[in-house]
Amino acid sequence: MTYQISATKLQTYNRCPYAYYLRYERKLVSNDCFGSPALGTALHQALAQCHRDWHYQNPLPDIHWVHHCWRQHSAGLTASQVMEGMEILEKYYWRFIAHEVALTQPLAVEGKIQGRLHVENLEFIIVGRYDRIDFLSGGLELIDYKSSREVKLPDTSEMDIQIGLYYLALEQTYHRSLKYLSLLFLRTGEKVRFQATPAHRKQVQQMISHLAIRLRHDRGWEPTPGKQCDRCAFSRYCPAVTTSPTPVPETNSKPQLQLALNL
Ligand code: SF4
Repeated sequence: MTYQISATKLQTYNRCPYAYYLRYERKLVSNDCFGSPALGTALHQALAQCHRDWHYQNPLPDIHWVHHCWRQHSAGLTASQVMEGMEILEKYYWRFIAHEVALTQPLAVEGKIQGRLHVENLEFIIVGRYDRIDFLSGGLELIDYKSSREVKLPDTSEMDIQIGLYYLALEQTYHRSLKYLSLLFLRTGEKVRFQATPAHRKQVQQMISHLAIRLRHDRGWEPTPGKQCDRCAFSRYCPAVTTSPTPVPETNSKPQLQLALNL
């Protein structure tokens, strides 16, 4: 029996097992809304092309290469988004490319990563995606482009989970350790590096072990109140914050794991 796990799922579990249970086991839909990702998607695609398709026999592209990549991916945007994206990419070029001696070819660009972990008779499939992986002398650097307007760093605990999961998956895929997970904020040109260590991997392995026990026995999904409750989409079902919680609706997605395991 396989069970898919991602940084987003494990972060939800870490914040509150009950919210995790409602979202991923009972498959209740949350009311989270997302803004239009069009500009961000186009920026990611243009940067992927910029680093993936450059002819690396020539040391350094000039600014026209960035303009060319942007033209390939900005067709569906409004005129103001096209201008905005061009300015962002030009800033990126002058900050991260123009002053290098040569552009270093990444190990991988814009892809999915997968790892496996066996716990409690369960096989967890770790899934994630990356924007770029660079090869450094002492390990790998995973780079995540951020196109948000503000430079907002995730909570340390959420970052640690992400680092630990990528550490596990990259080690299996490339047989190299993750050295840094870096957030690159495209609008400001800031790059924030987080050092990865085996302790991150260990922490995530322990967390997945606890999750496996809950999944196996389908119990222990206690609410864990905290500051996250203010933004929780499931508070009306939650006995920890609501005096008369709404009964959890029946869905077609009851926990299935016990049926699949030889218990
Ligand atoms: S309201 Fe708080 S305690 Fe209740 S499910 Fe949501 S996060 Fe958990």
